[in-house]
Amino acid sequence: MNEMLIMTPGPTAVAENVRLARSQTTTNPDIDLDFYDFYKVTCEKFGKFLQTKNDVRILAGEGILGLEAACASLTEQGTRVLVLDNGIFGHGFADFVTMYGGEPLLLRSPETASFDLALLEEFLEKDHDFKYATVVHCDTPSGVLNDISKICPLLKKYDILTVVDSVAAMGGEPLAVDEWEIDIVLGGSQKVLSAPPGLTFLSISQAAYQAMENRKTPIASFYCNLLVFKDYFEKKWFPYTMPISDIYGLTQAIDNLLADKEIIKRHADIAEATRQAIEHSALQLHLKNGFSNTVTVINVPKETTAQAILKEMKEHYNVMITGSFDRLEGKVLRIGHMGENARASKVAYTLYALQQTLENQGVSLLSNLQDDFLKYYQKLTFDKK
Ligand SMILES: *Cc1c(COP(=O)(O)O)cnc(C)c1O
Repeated sequence: MNEMLIMTPGPTAVAENVRLARSQTTTNPDIDLDFYDFYKVTCEKFGKFLQTKNDVRILAGEGILGLEAACASLTEQGTRVLVLDNGIFGHGFADFVTMYGGEPLLLRSPETASFDLALLEEFLEKDHDFKYATVVHCDTPSGVLNDISKICPLLKKYDILTVVDSVAAMGGEPLAVDEWEIDIVLGGSQKVLSAPPGLTFLSISQAAYQAMENRKTPIASFYCNLLVFKDYFEKKWFPYTMPISDIYGLTQAIDNLLADKEIIKRHADIAEATRQAIEHSALQLHLKNGFSNTVTVINVPKETTAQAILKEMKEHYNVMITGSFDRLEGKVLRIGHMGENARASKVAYTLYALQQTLENQGVSLLSNLQDDFLKYYQKLTFDKK
């Protein structure tokens, strides 16, 4: 099979050494005490990567498990939760809150820009009686990036716990958990980490643990219960058998990220060069501001359809980008450039394929996307040094 270039905002290409790490021989992770040490060391590395002293836990399930576990553990009947909504994942948090008996209050901010801080500030002055608030770091369907460095400290001023979905940003955008006062941040293995889908990881503050321990009613889940993991190391007990091979791979993936000192800058340069090339060509970026550096979202030109573009890119150029879903279905194209896919050569070829496809479908561009991308990337990365 010809290898397809998969340039979607997750799952990303898996790093070679991550694939190999997953093939190591395994032990019984429930009873082999060495595995408890290994899991603990991996969690501590994660803490370093997230710039936090808080506990880190790796759970056996894809990113969505992290979202649900945070909500399940903090929500009981009548819990008021502030749901910051400027995107599809942002909005979706409300469903998890409702599912566990809570009362979500959706605070909406325009979807084509970062969450409006003034709006949040004004709202909180009037109403701040919430146990926790949810916010998405990069809301992937639109690519909007929210400034959690400002949002979380603002919420904490009112003693509101902060839950951040950073699945699509963690590793590719700056993230300082302790400095930014994030009580629970969660990520997924298949995005910037460039490991296969299957794991979620969270950092959990003491205040978040306290809120779980002070509940009037027990957490209404076992698999989504973050408290059952709290003392795993002292008790030498995991609530369920840990997916050991996945965790071997993840450990390598974290080592890769910790060793890659330029990773944030590379994501920024690649994303900036992509946006400049797109704008120069007279294609339209979907957002007004708040561009994330992990995904670029482009409006579908009126001459053709998302479906036709994706099909031709896949069949004729062996490149897979993606459309979007929910209210953005058919309206935008998304190019993921995160983790192993944040490489100039991969993005350049993707833009070449996009240009050929668009021109075949009657869209005339004012410039050459690939050449412009490489020119801007060169300027950002090498000329300033
Ligand atoms: C990818 C992603 C998740 C995990 O969701 P899947 O659609 O199951 O991959 C959660 N939140 C965000 C913001 C994501 O980008």
